[in-house]
Amino acid sequence: MTTRIEFHGGAGTVTGSRYLIEARGTRCLVDAGLFQGLKELRLLNWQPPSFEPGGVNALILTHAHIDHSGYLPKLVRDGFRGPIYCTEATAELAELMLLDAAHLQEEDAEFANRRGFSKHKPALPLYTVADAQQALRLLSPVAYGDWITLGDEFRARFANAGHILGSAHVEMEAPAEGRTLRIVFSGDLGRYAAPLHPDPRARPPCEVLIAESTYGDRRHDPTPPIEQLRKPFQQACARGGTILIPSFAVGRAQIVTLLLGDAMRDGLIPRVPIHIDSPMAVDATRIYAKHVGDENLDPDILQNGHSRLFPEGIHFHRSVDESKRLNTLSGPRVIISASGMLTGGRVVHHLHRLLTDERNLIVLVGYQAAGTRGRALLEGRSTVRMHGEDVPVRARLLSLGGLSAHADCDELMRWIRGDGAAPAQVFVTHGEPASAESLAARIERELGVTAHLPRLGDVYELPSASKR
Ligand code: ZN
Repeated sequence: MTTRIEFHGGAGTVTGSRYLIEARGTRCLVDAGLFQGLKELRLLNWQPPSFEPGGVNALILTHAHIDHSGYLPKLVRDGFRGPIYCTEATAELAELMLLDAAHLQEEDAEFANRRGFSKHKPALPLYTVADAQQALRLLSPVAYGDWITLGDEFRARFANAGHILGSAHVEMEAPAEGRTLRIVFSGDLGRYAAPLHPDPRARPPCEVLIAESTYGDRRHDPTPPIEQLRKPFQQACARGGTILIPSFAVGRAQIVTLLLGDAMRDGLIPRVPIHIDSPMAVDATRIYAKHVGDENLDPDILQNGHSRLFPEGIHFHRSVDESKRLNTLSGPRVIISASGMLTGGRVVHHLHRLLTDERNLIVLVGYQAAGTRGRALLEGRSTVRMHGEDVPVRARLLSLGGLSAHADCDELMRWIRGDGAAPAQVFVTHGEPASAESLAARIERELGVTAHLPRLGDVYELPSASKR
């Protein structure tokens, strides 16, 4: 019996992470992510998986982001019945994110049926809330560092990846050709010396490394975000304007809160109310707050017994009525609301209301995909379409760099290099082709080891990493 790795997603693209390891007949899937972005990728979610879900014995989930977890409900509906191992915090965030993803799937299908534009009659959701609940029952939380037995001489454990709450890289030991093969999956890697999370734990020693490459060819803006924000923020407050920050609800909203709270505390920007207007961001902040003081978060979050996640003047708006109350408030204030690319959610109502007034400031704090309203603003369009109306852009705009939760190419190399021996084989995954190729070339040049660029469906025998 040989040990093998199969790439069923996250290969040649940044989404849909799904890696299958088979050792002595035990099959373990690392991550079950949704393909996102371009239509040809999204369609892959609807195809039967290229492996038998019922034949997978266990699943290792590195973190709760949908491109790593969002396929779980479908996998369970298609027959997967094994345990889904993840950290405690990942289990808590996965509940939030999978139920939300299922709601969106159901809404999309309902919308298609109402408009009658689907080729399928009736249009069905990829999965339902009931499917997501079924998957959540299989979650099996494990502490960082505790070994998980997967099979005969086959085990794995998590270490903090510093990417989002609960995120982990995975150290695996698998029997191969009469010895123990050490395999490490990077998961998504966080940044060094960044707010909110501690640095990624050092890469464990290994012979085979599967490394992400989201920013494999890019470096983050070295200008501290507060320096980029300070002046435009002060000016907006002086004009009596509102500062609207469209933000992803999990992770990004909390980093932005931290940034603003600290800057107000230090007198760098005026102290104005901060409103978190997104039920998901409110829930995510509560989950983050539960983990203040444990290994998940930077110990500095707690200052003089007070959590920096709850700065003075923060208000949480969970219900629709609480959200609508914001329309009636005047004077300078910050509204943080989802979605981060302005594709939907409450933030679109605020944008509609605030975009036409030149006193206001819109601050983009994340990646803006092609075709989104966020991208339209970035490109300097004079109008943005909302609720069937072309709304003129009069508010000021700021795109804030450097808030990414992903290691950049230098940080990836720092982690991959580690302080011990280099792995014999590296598989570069989870990146657009240019990113993955650039990182693979750097690994080969700087570490002198073979870096493979697996494609979707590729199977490699380990430890020699010969392609089948
Ligand atoms: Zn991620």
